[in-house]
Amino acid sequence: MTDPRADHARSIVLATRNAHKVGELRDILADALARTGLQLIGLDEFSGLEDVVESGVTFADNALLKARCAARATGLPALADDSGLAVDVLGGSPGVFSARWAGPLAEATGAGRDAANNQLLLAQLADVPDAHRGAGFVCAAALVLPDGREVVREGHCRGVLAREPRGTNGFGYDPLLVRPDGRTLAEHSSTEKHAVSHRGEAFRALAQDLEDLLV
Ligand code: IMP
Repeated sequence: MTDPRADHARSIVLATRNAHKVGELRDILADALARTGLQLIGLDEFSGLEDVVESGVTFADNALLKARCAARATGLPALADDSGLAVDVLGGSPGVFSARWAGPLAEATGAGRDAANNQLLLAQLADVPDAHRGAGFVCAAALVLPDGREVVREGHCRGVLAREPRGTNGFGYDPLLVRPDGRTLAEHSSTEKHAVSHRGEAFRALAQDLEDLLV
């Protein structure tokens, strides 16, 4: 790997290879990035980095694992997030297992991972009455500096679970989470979603830490 510090003197790295996520975070952190003079880059800017095993049992554990690894590998300040859906009546599950809740069912049905996860969750909750269908997305956002300083902030986005998917925007469990205005998150535009989302809330809190630690 080439030394990234030479090319990225005023950069902060987001521990993801997902270009969509880098773009989303550039929007959410726009003010903090402008004030700190930092540019946000993704892990795709670097070669030879190994994938992190998300072995944590909390969102904060996993966000820190990813941010520490990115800071160590690049020598840059690093951001990472980990998120998922916590259903009240399931004691907070699927939680950190949100992405792979339906497991092999996704391949067996050929429905795709998000659709299989949604179908399984709806089946598990089929007999749960409306009054007990509360749930929320949770996001832990971590900032790790090369000198070892660390901060984690959490964001939440509450709602109730619908009885069938609604809406075509977003991803994951968005078509199931009904917000207080009666629309699912998949019926929100991306700007509307950022304003109320767990990721938006966590990273807006972390933006203040960025400014305090890096200006
Ligand atoms: P990640 O940690 O952001 O990769 O999210 C892990 C999993 O949680 C995703 O694969 C989704 O199933 C679920 N998830 C996280 N954030 C969202 C969201 O904003 N909308 C819908 N599903 C989400």
